[in-house]
Amino acid sequence: MTNATTGKHATVSCPFCASLNRVDLGRLEDGPRCGTCRRPLLLDRPVAVPGESFDRILADAEVPFLLDCYADWCGPCRIMAPVLDEFARDRMGEVLVGKLDTDRYPEVAQRLGVRGIPTLILFSGGREVARQVGAGPRAGLEALFDSLGAAPKTGGRFPKNASSPSAKSG
Ligand SMILES: [Zn+2]
Repeated sequence: MTNATTGKHATVSCPFCASLNRVDLGRLEDGPRCGTCRRPLLLDRPVAVPGESFDRILADAEVPFLLDCYADWCGPCRIMAPVLDEFARDRMGEVLVGKLDTDRYPEVAQRLGVRGIPTLILFSGGREVARQVGAGPRAGLEALFDSLGAAPKTGGRFPKNASSPSAKSG
């Protein structure tokens, strides 16, 4: 029953009814469905991250979580979109790819220190490990993941205290 290679989960927001669903990433081929509205949850593309669910989605992601902070009017974001689509499809189950509409959820974007869009932030274990500002090729996305290799593999807490992320009051 339990498969050693699976067992990683992530929480995603249903694009239809916004219910949060915990998904077994090892069983995506079974076609996960929303527990509330029964419509399919598709993880072969970036999933929309509602601002109010961001913290929960971040905390629950048991795989690296790549967040695209974008806006509809942003040209470079449109250039980036197909790159992210392809990336999400290729790395389905290994990486959770989300997108945050910075116009709808400016408070989350501000909290993340997003100053330009698109901003791509890679989180692992609930922490930011790398970010890219501006559109770029697929290789740039892959390079963000190099930062993961340097991180300790143990899922435990890191000894170092959260180095203050330059809290500028403004
Ligand atoms: Zn639903």
